[in-house]
Amino acid sequence: MKQNSKHSIQLDAAELRDLFHSGKRKEFVAGMRLALRQILAKLHVEDHYDQVITLIKQDTCYRELNNTWEELKPAVRSQKWQELMERLLQITYGTRPYCLRCGDCCHLGSPSLHPEDAELLSRGVLSARQIYTLRRGEPVKFNIDGRLGALPSELIKIKQHQEKHHCIYYGKNQRGCTIYDNRPLQCRVQACWAPEGLEKLWQQEKLTRRHLIKEDQDLLEMLEVHDERCDPRKLDAAFTRLHDTGDLAVLDEVLDLLRQDTAIRAFVTQKLNREDEELNFLLGRPLVEIVRAYGMKVEKDENGVYHLVSDQ
Ligand code: SF4
Ligand code: SF4
Repeated sequence: MKQNSKHSIQLDAAELRDLFHSGKRKEFVAGMRLALRQILAKLHVEDHYDQVITLIKQDTCYRELNNTWEELKPAVRSQKWQELMERLLQITYGTRPYCLRCGDCCHLGSPSLHPEDAELLSRGVLSARQIYTLRRGEPVKFNIDGRLGALPSELIKIKQHQEKHHCIYYGKNQRGCTIYDNRPLQCRVQACWAPEGLEKLWQQEKLTRRHLIKEDQDLLEMLEVHDERCDPRKLDAAFTRLHDTGDLAVLDEVLDLLRQDTAIRAFVTQKLNREDEELNFLLGRPLVEIVRAYGMKVEKDENGVYHLVSDQ
């Protein structure tokens, strides 16, 4: 069994192939029960088994499939099976429409902040050291549907644990969130049993650096300069050109962007007296880190010269 990005549980590919090709009703029922056990375990409600079995047996989707399974073609069985898994998930969530503070959502990544969360910074719940910026045009994987693409507009997020990737405020021994009473809006809207709330929130205005840095003119000017000179879209355009033309001279342009990014970061710490830990909020992630999304990394040779090399 394995879990896909939308939380549905599936038998592994070989087991599913066998199930769809054999077409035996007994195996279908056994497979459905097995999948249900996995869903219940995933949602931490193993003891809801009898309740969900009773409900699924009354459900039209299950009843029709149970009656017609042997007559269907394997491709149709496969499609109907997916529908049944979604239905099982919905029914199981219907028996548990509340948060268990299991922390599973805190492991899927940290929340993006909204203007309503600005007061968490003014009250000192969060500080510039615990958040970071994803700038417009950065290559990212969208949590909402797992898609890869360029970020259409700036986001500010809480930092994540470097190895485990969960939100830094997740504490295993504290029943999950360590700032539960002050958690950001996204976490308050998060309801795994009703994902539509989060989908709606995703369309709403996000917090940006300009909401938070209103009065520091020197810093705001530096942000403008950095955004213009070290725009992640320039990086994307350069790698697209490299891919399309194979012109290795593009790598020098990329290295130049990386050098400018590094120089501006040094300026902000040394001349504007900001801490290193604040830089990923003030200037976004370093370009030297972002190039890894394009399968490249920077290496220094024995003469101290930097090169971009494949990260494979
Ligand atoms: S909302 Fe998050 S913490 Fe609450 S039950 Fe769902 S996955 Fe667990
Ligand atoms: S702030 Fe709290 S609830 Fe939100 S993702 Fe982090 S640990 Fe989870």
